[in-house]
Amino acid sequence: MRNLNTRKLAVIGCGFVGSASAFALMQSGLFSEMVLIDANHARAEGEALDISHGLPFAKPMKIYAGDYPDLADASLIVITAGAGQKPGETRLNLVKKNISIFRSIIPSITQYNRDAILLIVANPVDILTYAAAKLSGFPENRVFGTGTVLDTARLKYLLGEHLQVDSRAVHAFILGEHGDSEIVAWSSANVSGLPLHNFCEMRGYFDHDAAMEALAAGVKNSAYEIIEKKSATYYGIAMSVRRVCEAIVRDEKSILPVSSVQHGSYGIDGVALSLPAVVGKDGVETIVPIALSEEEIAALRASAQTLKDFLAEQDL
Ligand code: NAD
Repeated sequence: MRNLNTRKLAVIGCGFVGSASAFALMQSGLFSEMVLIDANHARAEGEALDISHGLPFAKPMKIYAGDYPDLADASLIVITAGAGQKPGETRLNLVKKNISIFRSIIPSITQYNRDAILLIVANPVDILTYAAAKLSGFPENRVFGTGTVLDTARLKYLLGEHLQVDSRAVHAFILGEHGDSEIVAWSSANVSGLPLHNFCEMRGYFDHDAAMEALAAGVKNSAYEIIEKKSATYYGIAMSVRRVCEAIVRDEKSILPVSSVQHGSYGIDGVALSLPAVVGKDGVETIVPIALSEEEIAALRASAQTLKDFLAEQDL
């Protein structure tokens, strides 16, 4: 492997999500160099300047608008470029536009760098993760998407509010597609080791079925609600990008529900979707086969099939 600068990252796409992620990453102190690339170069320049003006309150770092040759020594490349959802539009509707953007971006990256980790954020993130893996030819552990890291954060937040407990004490995963067919792994959910239902009852809640249905719908609909109200979602995903980057740069071996190409877990194969995975300096190290109920496994396989049906139409 060539010598990469482990303190250098690139963000491709500097719209709402790319700029918010760059801002969160600047504050993280994880990197000493960040290059911003956008089809609209002036936009990347504007964001680089604006974000740089916060540096006296953060840690020293070089932030600039660049182009693909600047990627040569970057260890991490975050891709947010692509159209976002319009009000009422599903993530999967974005597929044609954004795959065609990836058909131009990925070869431009591999021309200068074949050793970095590619972190996919643009939607539909599972389809684009699969596309990026195929188009780049990189080892699959180095190409993965933020997947349901954001959905899982939304679930933890909502559960924390519902149960009046710190959301960081909530342990629960959303798995499968980052989108309408995602599933909540309720059977393994717990609050600091106490099974979720027990904690709910401790707080005086006994109608578990209704609560679980409302919470799962709340997570699934939150992007639609935010887009309806303010056109785009970007702060939650920016913090999710920061969290995944932190796990990589610090080689944390954290367990995060990132999206990666699957080869047999729960009988799922040849599609990218989110399962709990150990994430460290080499990217996705291994999938963690948490216990799921039979219904959850069936729903997870159905989610995989939804994505496979979309992939089959994409000629990848
Ligand atoms: P946006 O329209 O604000 O920004 C997209 C940016 O990409 C624009 O600045 C545009 O100029 C740039 N771009 C387009 N084609 C390009 C190319 N070929 N090369 C370089 N740059 C290019 O959109 P947004 O709100 O920032 O959303 C970006 C993507 O992130 C969307 O696909 C959205 O659905 C997705 N998203 C993902 C998550 C997640 O959880 N994974 C969450 C929110 C949004």
